[in-house]
Amino acid sequence: MSDPIIDLHSHTRASDGSDNPSELIAQAVASGISTLAITDHDTTSGWAEAVAAAREAPLSLIPGIELSTQVLDHTTGFVPQSIHLLGYLVDPQHPALVEEMAKIRSHRDNRLQMMVDKLSADYDISWLEVRATIPEGATPGRPHIAEVLIAKGIVADTTEAFAHILAADGPYHVPHYAPKLDRALSIIRGAGGVPVLAHPLSRGDNLATGVSGPLEDVLARYRRWVELGLMGVEIDHRENAPESREVLAVVADSLDLIVTGSSDYHGTKKPNLLGENRTRMEQLERILHAGVGAEAVPLS
Ligand code: AMP
Ligand code: MN
Ligand code: MN
Ligand code: MN
Repeated sequence: MSDPIIDLHSHTRASDGSDNPSELIAQAVASGISTLAITDHDTTSGWAEAVAAAREAPLSLIPGIELSTQVLDHTTGFVPQSIHLLGYLVDPQHPALVEEMAKIRSHRDNRLQMMVDKLSADYDISWLEVRATIPEGATPGRPHIAEVLIAKGIVADTTEAFAHILAADGPYHVPHYAPKLDRALSIIRGAGGVPVLAHPLSRGDNLATGVSGPLEDVLARYRRWVELGLMGVEIDHRENAPESREVLAVVADSLDLIVTGSSDYHGTKKPNLLGENRTRMEQLERILHAGVGAEAVPLS
C-alpha cells in the first residue's frame, strides 16, 4: 500500500478559498487525501460544516486556522512584515483567540472597503459588489476584490489581479491590523493549539522567518520563537524558496521542531493542488499529541 496522503493546509469560502467546507472534503476524498487540515485565515467558521462532512467521509480532519500576524522589529528594519501562523487543534471558544480573530476580521473588512474606495477612482467597482462575494462570518481578503475584477473582465484571473491591481506594493493596497507574531504564538498555545509557521521562506526568503545569513543568527531568531511557543515549520510548500529548505530543515532539526509539507489549496482561487506537498505520518502524530484545544475527526 502506498503512503497515506497528509495535507495540513487548505482554505474554503470561510476565507479566500472557492469551495464550501463540504465541497473541500469531497475534493480531498477525490484527491486520495487521508488526513486533511482546514486552515482558513483568521476564522473557525468553516469547521462545523467540514467536521460534519468529514464524519461521513473516508478521511481524517484536523481543524485549524491560519492566523494573520506580523513582525516589526530590527529584523525587518521596523517595517511591518506579514507572517502567517498555522494553529492546529485550537479551542475555537478560547476567549483571547476569539477576540483576536474578530479584531483581525473587522480590520480586514475596513481595509478592504478602503481598497475598493481607491480602486473605484480608476475602475468600475463598488463595495456593495465586493461585499456580496463575502459569505457571512467569512474573512474578507484581497481575493474577494479579485473575484469582482474577474467577473467584470478587468483581469483574467486571481494571479493577474495580484500582479498589479492588488499587489502589496501597488497603488491601491491598504495594510490591515494583525497581532505581533510573539503574541499570536502565545494566543495559539493558550488555546491548546499547535503553532506552525506557514511558508516561512516565501517572498524569496526575505521574510523575518527566512534563513539567509549566518546560521547562528537564524537559530537565535527561531530559538526565541520556540521559547514563546512555536512548535513547527511548514517546509514543503510551493512558495518556499527551494534552495533554503535544507537550511530550514537543519534549523528544525536543531530545535526539535515539527516539520510539515502542505498544498495551501484555495480551490479555483490559486493553482495549488491538494496533496501536491505532504506531511509525514510521524510529524502528524506529534501534532495530534500536542494539540489539546479541539478534537480531530478520526478515520471512520
Ligand atoms: P490579504 O490577506 O487580503 O492581504 O490577501 C492575501 C491572500 O491572497 C493570501 O492569503 C493568498 O492566499 C491570496 N493571494 C496572494 N497572492 C496571490 C496570488 N498571486 N494569486 C492568488 N491569490 C493570492
Ligand atoms: Mn489565502
Ligand atoms: Mn499564507
Ligand atoms: Mn494559506
